[in-house]
Amino acid sequence: MNTTAPAPETGTKASEELKAVPITVAYGDGIGPEIMAATLSILKAGGARLDIETVEIGEAVYERGITAGIEPSAWDSLRRTKVFLKAPITTPQGGGFKSLNVTVRKTLGLFANIRPCPSYAPFVATKHAGMDVIIVRENEEDLYAGIEHRQTEDVYQTLKLISRPGSERLIRYAFEHARRYGRHKVTCFTKDNIMKLTDGLFHQVFDEVAAEYPDLESEHWIVDIGAAKLADTPEAFDVIVLPNLYGDILSDVAAQIAGSVGLAGSANIGADLAMFEAIHGSAPRRAGQDLANPSGLFLGAVQMLVHIGQSDVATRVHNAWLRTLEDGIHTYDIFDAERSKEKVGTKAFAEAVIARLGQEPEQLPAVHYAGQRPPIQIELTPKPRSTKVRVGIDVFVDWTQDVESLGALLEANSGDDLSLVMISNRGQKVYPGGAPETFCVDHWRCRFQALDRGSLVEMSSILDLIARLDAAGLPFIKSEGLFTFDGQPGFSLGQGQ
Ligand code: NAD
Repeated sequence: MNTTAPAPETGTKASEELKAVPITVAYGDGIGPEIMAATLSILKAGGARLDIETVEIGEAVYERGITAGIEPSAWDSLRRTKVFLKAPITTPQGGGFKSLNVTVRKTLGLFANIRPCPSYAPFVATKHAGMDVIIVRENEEDLYAGIEHRQTEDVYQTLKLISRPGSERLIRYAFEHARRYGRHKVTCFTKDNIMKLTDGLFHQVFDEVAAEYPDLESEHWIVDIGAAKLADTPEAFDVIVLPNLYGDILSDVAAQIAGSVGLAGSANIGADLAMFEAIHGSAPRRAGQDLANPSGLFLGAVQMLVHIGQSDVATRVHNAWLRTLEDGIHTYDIFDAERSKEKVGTKAFAEAVIARLGQEPEQLPAVHYAGQRPPIQIELTPKPRSTKVRVGIDVFVDWTQDVESLGALLEANSGDDLSLVMISNRGQKVYPGGAPETFCVDHWRCRFQALDRGSLVEMSSILDLIARLDAAGLPFIKSEGLFTFDGQPGFSLGQGQ
């Protein structure tokens, strides 16, 4: 494990150290209340100076008809304390309810999700004894925009949004975090061989930021082979920075192959606020039985203690926890007859950690968090705005007949100033000159550009075009503007174009 930070820094005022720090706590659903009680009991015994405000979130709030799963008063508490220790909640199945986690992360601008996944071999079973990966997941963008539409009988759509500032602040955070915690390499995973604009932007920003950190190694992998390599040889990775969806999936993979998803904590960091939690859910089947492993939430809480400047307590409780694992005191999820000594429940596990306060592990590396350091602050690089020119429009229509008749209708209505460049179906060009084998559904993207390709297209021409298509009986779904930015196309070409 390399969570070891440099030796404690001096200069912290004793009076500041002793002040209780206000935090907001939510006990959540399922196993949440049990693992939160266990976590807080260790923190308290370890000397954490916390002034706790408790808020209600999750099932009970959803049942009161609040679709976000969080009371308005809870937001006031979060804005006041700026620190949230949150147990997992149960998201009701079915329409109408929003994921509380996504809502909190996005509302409060918690852009970076830090998920350390070290192995604890030989004390917790893993195939990857040397693994010590930190996943830094983008938390606000990508497919988690949740902008979805059904557009035709056959086709549903979700929007994947990636922004330059969103990518830059996350990637800078990953490099700053790597530097602060003595890491040597930052790896980026994207699928920019396919999503050349969205994932391409993330990769480009990664390269730009990496150039400013010559002391750190940097590399990029296409996510499919990168994920395979991570699952097979996680020892080859150090810090991995990823867009939201890949990060969501691969942080669970990383935590599970390190030992168990029940062992991973996570920090959700924003410019002003931060939220700390386990990466697992509310495991309702295990609720109320004093069985669950509190370690994921506990390790989230350790990150919280470092964040609020109580590194002394973080060091003490984390080392006691490591010693407990080492002593073979294990909850059912990591219990293994060969290496464990005692199978314990949630409460007994917490008591075992408390009994070891003041001790350090003997074989696993002990942690030593540095003293109070200001949270990492990210400055974005100012960038001049590009010259943006509209050069055409993609019109999406709902059509159940053959493509040749669609093409003829569109050509007949393209007008004097626009021409039909192509029609594609699910991204594959099918007109003009499509392949007869291409399977088509009822969702067609029809690209129009100026007769003099690349020159400006006035908005009035586009509105006239859409009116003509509507009058010709073509069911309009939506349109997407085609723009150039400083002369570079801001749109993908259709496959086969
Ligand atoms: P889950 O992570 O809750 O549980 C999956 C399985 O993992 C459990 O059945 C259990 O066997 C094991 N497990 C998880 N945490 C454990 C622990 N601390 N100790 C021991 N074993 C543990 O995933 P799920 O069953 O897919 O989701 C249950 C609910 O949790 C859903 O409503 C889901 O939406 C929600 N959820 C919430 C969060 C969150 O609040 N951050 C995250 C993920 C899922």
